[in-house]
Amino acid sequence: MPDSSNISDHIGLTSTIPVEIIYAAGLKPVDLNNLFISEKNPEKLLRQAEAAGFAHNVCSWIKGIYSTVINYGISSVIAVTGGDCSNTIALGEVLSREGVSVIPFDYPLNKEGDILKDQMEKLMKTFSTTWENVYSAKKRLDRIRSKLKELDRLTFKENLVSGFENHLFLVTSSDFKSAPDLFEKDLDQFLAGARRREPRKEEVRLGYLGVPGIYSDFYEVIESLGARVVFNETQRQFSMPYEVDDLVEQYLKYTYPYRVEGRIEDINTAIKERRLDGLIHYTQTFCYRQIYDIILKQAINIPILTIEGDRPGPLDARTIVRIETFVEILKDRKYG
Ligand code: SF4
Repeated sequence: MPDSSNISDHIGLTSTIPVEIIYAAGLKPVDLNNLFISEKNPEKLLRQAEAAGFAHNVCSWIKGIYSTVINYGISSVIAVTGGDCSNTIALGEVLSREGVSVIPFDYPLNKEGDILKDQMEKLMKTFSTTWENVYSAKKRLDRIRSKLKELDRLTFKENLVSGFENHLFLVTSSDFKSAPDLFEKDLDQFLAGARRREPRKEEVRLGYLGVPGIYSDFYEVIESLGARVVFNETQRQFSMPYEVDDLVEQYLKYTYPYRVEGRIEDINTAIKERRLDGLIHYTQTFCYRQIYDIILKQAINIPILTIEGDRPGPLDARTIVRIETFVEILKDRKYG
């Protein structure tokens, strides 16, 4: 994690963007969501944003990102204003009035490759880099991406990795923790250790859908009930396990910013390949993405439990009971 004394070459990200461009420019991307949620006291950052005028009914991630940028003194932020969240547009304007340089990045909703390429080239122009440099950064990051794919395989195929470990490595691949060499070293060590483990034997195999959760003990609670998450939908998307040579194609395959059909196809593939018994759809309070719950439940044929999280911290008692009941139902369906 960067400290405020060495942040000058860091570029804040409100969501996943082509980080190859930032690395190609010799700069360090930092995912503001990960920085916020790994703070010792993320709740304090929400109160700080509320004191600055953000309303109670603004999503916690937006408030957390705001305070993180201010507290770290991050001077440049890439705001994903198309394909993510309209709150980000207003957040960008607030930050810009506070002296932060805000660079918009728009994913085209209908996945037009030429529009996406144009967005990438705008970013390359802003950071004065070339396609040649970008492809050399891509080559470097692709080596790590293929190791993350192996970590994911060890999770669902060999049963050697916990749901939380899978989540943590994949979610931090949105920026490779601003230090790809260190990230890769940690990953290599982890993989070597994981391969020596005995396989896990949980009775219930779950998929996690939706934006990464704000709860601190979600995976722990799941595993205490004899279940395990073997598919982290969005986190896996951050790791871009597509193995394609073309950078535009890579970011067109990334399902998160586009229409929901791509997500449904990806989830249905995972259900078969990973033998999922059920899905937990995490929704964030005050987030428009909650509405996708309707479509996911119409389009997917295995049981889905929808849970909602608002502020950082442990799961509340009611949600724990709902998860317990869901896991019991799945056990009954499986073993009769
Ligand atoms: S959780 Fe939803 S509302 Fe919050 S930042 Fe993400 S997309 Fe926007």
